[in-house]
Amino acid sequence: MTREEVKAYDAARYLQNRPRKLEQFREWKAKNRGRHRALSMRWQKEHPKESRAIKAAYKKRHPEKTRAGRIRTSTASLASHAAREGARRAKTQKPTPAVLEIYRLSASDVELTCHWCSAITTRAERHVDHVLPLSLGGSHEADNLAIACRRCNLTKGRLHPEVFVERRRVAI
Ligand SMILES: [Zn+2]
Repeated sequence: MTREEVKAYDAARYLQNRPRKLEQFREWKAKNRGRHRALSMRWQKEHPKESRAIKAAYKKRHPEKTRAGRIRTSTASLASHAAREGARRAKTQKPTPAVLEIYRLSASDVELTCHWCSAITTRAERHVDHVLPLSLGGSHEADNLAIACRRCNLTKGRLHPEVFVERRRVAI
């Protein structure tokens, strides 16, 4: 065999044996946790560059395991939980007379001004808006409800009211 052939043969055998070797290593590691930690810490100290590269690659592959990633994940799940919870409450809670009155007004022929832009709204194109969105913990109570024109309600979406007002101010 030529040198190249030997190299290729070794590489093929390495790949073939890799799963078995990894499995053996995992078993050894499970039985020798202290020893593994000591060895790997020594290796990291002796190979700072490689060790940093390995850690960076690991973080890239598992963003959820970093501190920032964990915070991101938990914030996202909290927000979606709040959204589901808010929507559920809005559906199951018995509306108070004050809430019913706002919906009755909204469905009437009376001309009402938009809470956000003061435009006169007609029945066909106005919405009842949750000032602080349900998804941000807003309630389905009368003091959190406002008549909004279709355009304001749709552009506001799930924005915090202060953020929405600020964006409108910048846009005008
Ligand atoms: Zn409006």
